[in-house]
Amino acid sequence: MSETLFDKILRKEIPAKIAYEDEHVLAFHDIAPQAPIHVLVIPKEKWTGFADLQTGDPIKLGLYMASIAKAAAHLGLDPNGYRIVFNQGRDGQQTVAYIHAHILGGRRLSWPPG
Ligand code: 5GP
Repeated sequence: MSETLFDKILRKEIPAKIAYEDEHVLAFHDIAPQAPIHVLVIPKEKWTGFADLQTGDPIKLGLYMASIAKAAAHLGLDPNGYRIVFNQGRDGQQTVAYIHAHILGGRRLSWPPG
């Protein structure tokens, strides 16, 4: 599995504005936010992308999902809602080969996405 920018952010070798952290995930603010709140959540144990979850440990996957929800709550997004996005592969516009959930919120988001 090749090294990515997010491996370095996880190891704190590259600075990022940390939004939430627990034993399973690190969440940090996106450098190019697409909403008033735009946070990326990566698991501390790496998967390359969403496609890897087909064979991933379902318990670890569940803990990842729970921590994404905890990060959103920590950001104060529960009352008004938010969107979780996983971009997968080339056509999904995934640019970093380390799975990451985008949490987008802080405004009314449009639907459908582009
Ligand atoms: P993807 O397109 O792979 O789903 O999302 C990658 C995200 O990483 C993009 O939204 C991009 O703005 C963000 N990003 C790229 N480089 C950096 C960086 O150095 N720091 C932070 N915090 N976010 C980054």
